[in-house]
Amino acid sequence: MTQTGKVVAITGASSGIGEATALRLAADGHRVLLGARRTDRLERLTEKIIGEGGTAAFRALDVTDAQDTRAFVDAARAEFGRIDVLVNNAGVMPLSPLEALKTDEWDRMIDVNVRGVLHGIAAALPAMRAQGAGHIVNIASVGAYEVSPTAAVYCATKFAVRAISEGLRQESGGDLRVTLVSPGVTESELADSISDPAAREAMKTYRAVALPASAIADAIAHVVSQPPGVDVNEVIVRPSASAR
Ligand code: NDP
Repeated sequence: MTQTGKVVAITGASSGIGEATALRLAADGHRVLLGARRTDRLERLTEKIIGEGGTAAFRALDVTDAQDTRAFVDAARAEFGRIDVLVNNAGVMPLSPLEALKTDEWDRMIDVNVRGVLHGIAAALPAMRAQGAGHIVNIASVGAYEVSPTAAVYCATKFAVRAISEGLRQESGGDLRVTLVSPGVTESELADSISDPAAREAMKTYRAVALPASAIADAIAHVVSQPPGVDVNEVIVRPSASAR
C-alpha cells in the first residue's frame, strides 16, 4: 500500500458500483472520499477500507444540491490536500413507460443523473484547472447508446451524460482527462427504485445475466491508472453473455 496515490472523490459510494470502486481504488493505494445520502453505509465502508490499510473518509452528499456537491469536493481537498479524480457515479433508474406519467420520477432521474453530474463538474473543475491536472470519470450506461421501452427518460439522462462528457473533453485543453464509463447490466441496488410493476417484472429477466460491480470498478481503476498524457475517453463493459 502506498500513500502517494491519487485523491479520488466518488459519488454514490454507498452501494453497487460506487462501493466496489471505493474498495478497488483504495486497495490500489488511492485516497478516497465517499459520498452518498446513506451515511451509515459510508461509515461502515470507510472503516472497512481503513481496517484493510487504506485511506478513506466520507461525507453526506446529495448530488441534486449544487452547494452540497461543492462542499463534498472541498472536503476532499481539506482532508487530502487536492482532488485528482472525481467519479460522478450517483444515479437512479425508476423505469416506467412514458404513458404512466410518473413525472416525479422523470424529475428525479434528471436531477440525480444529469444535474448531479453537472454539479460534480462545477465543483471539481476550478480546482482541477488551478492544479493544472485532473480527471473526471462519468458513469453513463449502455443506455447512453440505445433506447428501450420503459427506459426513455433514463436513457435520455445517460445520453446527456455522454454529450456532457464529450463536450468537456473537447474543452479540456490538455490539463483535464475525461472518461465515460458505460456499464451493461451490473449487480447493484439500481433496479430497486422501479415502482412500475410491469417494468419491475421485465427487469428481472433483463437483469438475470449481470456483471459483478467489481468488473466496473476494475475498468475505472484502469482508466485512473493511465499516465498523464493518456486519456481513455470511453469504456463500455457488458457481460460477455449479453447481446445488449
Ligand atoms: P445503486 O443503486 O447500487 O447505487 C446508486 C448510488 O447512487 C447509491 O450509492 C446511492 O446512494 C447514490 N445516490 C442516489 N441518489 C443520490 C443523490 N441524490 N445524491 C447522492 N447519491 C445518490 O446502483 P449502481 O451501483 O448500479 O449505480 C451506479 C451508477 O451506475 C448509476 O449512475 C447507474 O445509472 C449506473 N449504471 C448501472 C448499471 C447497472 O446495471 N447496475 C448499468 C448502467 C449504468 P444513497 O441512496 O445512499 O444516496
